[in-house]
Amino acid sequence: MNPKIWLSSPHMSGNELKYITEAFDTNWVAPLGPNVNGFENDIQTYLNEDRHVAALASGTSALHLSLILLGVSQGDEVICQSKTFSASANPIVYQGASPIFIDSEKDTWNMCPVQLEIAIKDRIAKGKTPKAIIAVHLYGMPYKVDEINKIAVKYNIPVVEDSAESLGSQYKNKNCGTFGDFSILSFNGNKIITTSGGGALITKTLKLKEKAVFLATQARDSAPHYLHTEIGYNYRMSNIVAGIGRGQMTILDSHVAKRRSNYKFYVESLKNNEKITFLQEPKGYFSNRWLSCILLDSKETREGLRLALEKENIESRPLWKPMHQQPVFKEYPSYTNGVSDELFNRGLCLPSGSNLTKNELDRIISAINAYFVT
Ligand SMILES: *Cc1c(COP(=O)(O)O)cnc(C)c1O
Repeated sequence: MNPKIWLSSPHMSGNELKYITEAFDTNWVAPLGPNVNGFENDIQTYLNEDRHVAALASGTSALHLSLILLGVSQGDEVICQSKTFSASANPIVYQGASPIFIDSEKDTWNMCPVQLEIAIKDRIAKGKTPKAIIAVHLYGMPYKVDEINKIAVKYNIPVVEDSAESLGSQYKNKNCGTFGDFSILSFNGNKIITTSGGGALITKTLKLKEKAVFLATQARDSAPHYLHTEIGYNYRMSNIVAGIGRGQMTILDSHVAKRRSNYKFYVESLKNNEKITFLQEPKGYFSNRWLSCILLDSKETREGLRLALEKENIESRPLWKPMHQQPVFKEYPSYTNGVSDELFNRGLCLPSGSNLTKNELDRIISAINAYFVT
């Protein structure tokens, strides 16, 4: 049996251990320290905008804190892209609020501005203005930032930008992670860079960052004893984990370049297969191509190909199953147009790691070609 080819696996630079050793040598083995500050600075510098970064335990905790900082609470409604990972929507329910799911458009596969406005009007007519809009840059492809922001401004609803999959992507030459009232990043094991597990909340003011860090460290008021006037969370990133992050930031751009070259390789190698299509970058969009995704001509072809790859020990995965189709969210309202269901049926994510070798890529293409020959 050939060795397993993973969808997206961790890829270390070699610089990580230096920061971890430093943390041990100086005994900063704690959820604060020079690596946490250094990692936050690295991200801030990379984003190259007037933003502030709080390093946290996960992307999910960053989303949760953003909703808390926006005052989302029991009985509120929060709009959320339906085609996404469940972590985009779960924190809405942690707050006792209801997610309102919005379908996708075909150009980027992200939140459809038309459905968004229909939904906002309808929710207002039914008596509640949504408290926030959670929009996601799926697989690294930026959502329609201008269109979504315009609607958000029109109805005065803040945007939470879920940039978990899109560090290194750009929209009109500006970095993803800088478009929301709050933005979040993830450094989970399969993301474009990883700290083994971790995330970040990006805020527009230092004050909001400080409030996020306060909440993330158990909301301790300043007093010699433990004094609390608010409910806190244990959401801060560890200084060891942040050391991995500092090492990973040194190769972020080369990871983006490699993932983009994987995508290009798939497009080139499969261009004569009329059953396979790709998501192109619209003008002004730059995707980190976190995952290379293809659309097949039918659900049957997609599932057949997935199983054929599995037989060859190659991991692939259908696109995200929309949240409005998830049993756990079935009672919540959704505004749909059929696009995300169609993408779920016909879409497949191919191995996309920045550490894929030429030999592995060739193996994947051979397996795909063999499936279509038989
Ligand atoms: C990975 C991911 C998250 C959650 O990040 P974690 O760090 O795993 O908590 C949220 N949203 C999207 C779109 C993701 O892909």
